[in-house]
Amino acid sequence: MEVVSMRRAEVPAVRDHAVVLGAGIAGLCTAAVLTRHFARVTLVERDQIKGKAADGSRGRRGVPQSPHIHTVLTRAAQEMEQLFPGLIDQCLAGGAVSAELGSQSRITYHGHTLPQRFAGIDGIMASRPFLEARLRERTLQLRSLSLRDGVEVTGLATEGTRGGAAVRGVALYPRGMEAGGEVLEADLVVDAMGRGGRSGAWLEGMGYPRAREERTRIDVTYASRHFALPPDALGADRAVMVGATASRPRGMVFAAQENGSWVVSLHSYGHHRAPVDDEEFLAFAATIAPPDVMNELRRAEPLDQIAVYRFPCGVRRRYDLLKRFPDGLLAVGDALCSVNPVYGAGISLAVREAVLLEECLAEEAARPLARRFFSSAHDATYPAWWLSKIGDYSLVQDGVSARLLGSSFRRLMAAAASDPKTASAVLRSLSFVDSPLKLVRPRILRQMLHQPTSRQPGTTAK
Ligand SMILES: Cc1cc2nc3c(=O)[nH]c(=O)nc-3n(C[C@H](O)[C@H](O)[C@H](O)COP(=O)(O)OP(=O)(O)OC[C@H]3O[C@@H](n4cnc5c(N)ncnc54)[C@H](O)[C@@H]3O)c2cc1C
Repeated sequence: MEVVSMRRAEVPAVRDHAVVLGAGIAGLCTAAVLTRHFARVTLVERDQIKGKAADGSRGRRGVPQSPHIHTVLTRAAQEMEQLFPGLIDQCLAGGAVSAELGSQSRITYHGHTLPQRFAGIDGIMASRPFLEARLRERTLQLRSLSLRDGVEVTGLATEGTRGGAAVRGVALYPRGMEAGGEVLEADLVVDAMGRGGRSGAWLEGMGYPRAREERTRIDVTYASRHFALPPDALGADRAVMVGATASRPRGMVFAAQENGSWVVSLHSYGHHRAPVDDEEFLAFAATIAPPDVMNELRRAEPLDQIAVYRFPCGVRRRYDLLKRFPDGLLAVGDALCSVNPVYGAGISLAVREAVLLEECLAEEAARPLARRFFSSAHDATYPAWWLSKIGDYSLVQDGVSARLLGSSFRRLMAAAASDPKTASAVLRSLSFVDSPLKLVRPRILRQMLHQPTSRQPGTTAK
């Protein structure tokens, strides 16, 4: 894996205080970047996280998606290395699994199983709490960074007239308390509070125009559980992914994790009841999983209870379109753009945005930081937003354009199943190693045109 490190000494810290709200993946990566440009950075988190080495496989209350599959894809791993040199080796030394996903995973989209061939996509496979604990440990070692945990952010402190005010800090309260609040002054406040990010509401409260909020209905429910199995439970394969089809709107991922554990994340579209006990979980898995996976699952020891998470819709907030935006406020990660988790894009986007923020802070430019950052972040996030949207269209065909785009996605997967080169191109785009525009090639388009329109083969992976 290529490692690019930043030379810290070259970037002077010229600004005084930045506050990052939320210590999830986006908050941690952003805070690390800001320590290179601000004399002081404060990370505010409502959960108690100080001194927590790891949170078990279930994670903490503020990150309810923790028990579900979270894979770090190639580019995200390279960019995390850029922010935290040595982090990936640290994860591997701590027991995380590394796999080349083209050759060491079995991937089935729309009933088409892709050929297993090297595609140059390295996944770092570990539970979300494992990864977050290591990122957090590295972030908290940064000298100019301090953590305020167990504290809830309730609003912004602003200065200036309505409609033209600048942000001067945040209002904090000890979690669950209505007394003991304080204002933490800052030159820059970054909303990294996840899908429930508040910057949009805060902007409106300050008299700024409402930012367009785009939503795409998904209604996917996850049910996940960890099992004790050795890394070679499936020979050299480290993951099996079976995507949903229009006629069977259910899918699953079975993936090796740290220290002799594997996660099974089942998902279903629509308003289905999630499996809640051993029997239901295995019965659900048996409708999708290949026989060798079921054999392993039936004899494996479960390490935790079944965790359920409902994801109603993708959301992106178009701050890039606003003509006016206050000085001193940004939003990153899921607070800016959150796509269907089935495509495993969230961490890649969060880390990419941190790197883009670094570039924006390092350049000398007349345009305000928010304008530059939101415009770059939009360019970085829209391929994932559209890929996920088109992928979802291929399952729920609502309207003419959705039907057309959805059918193209299915034809693309059929083409990938019959040609290793196309399979590699598809995997590299879905993993953000290459731009999705690389899929718009005469060879691939010809292959897509030659796929039968309604072809929807077998529902289980081989
Ligand atoms: C089921 C599921 C599976 C996923 N799988 C993958 C995957 O395989 N690969 C991938 O790349 N991505 C995956 N994702 C997406 C990924 O979880 C996120 O996109 C990514 O972690 C970025 O999240 P974030 O840091 O922006 O927000 P979060 O991780 O949600 O963190 C937000 C933080 O803000 C804190 N907070 C919230 N409100 C306040 C407040 N008022 N005051 C103080 N603190 C506050 C929370 O406690 C939390 O710590 C998955 C998501 C889901 C739901």
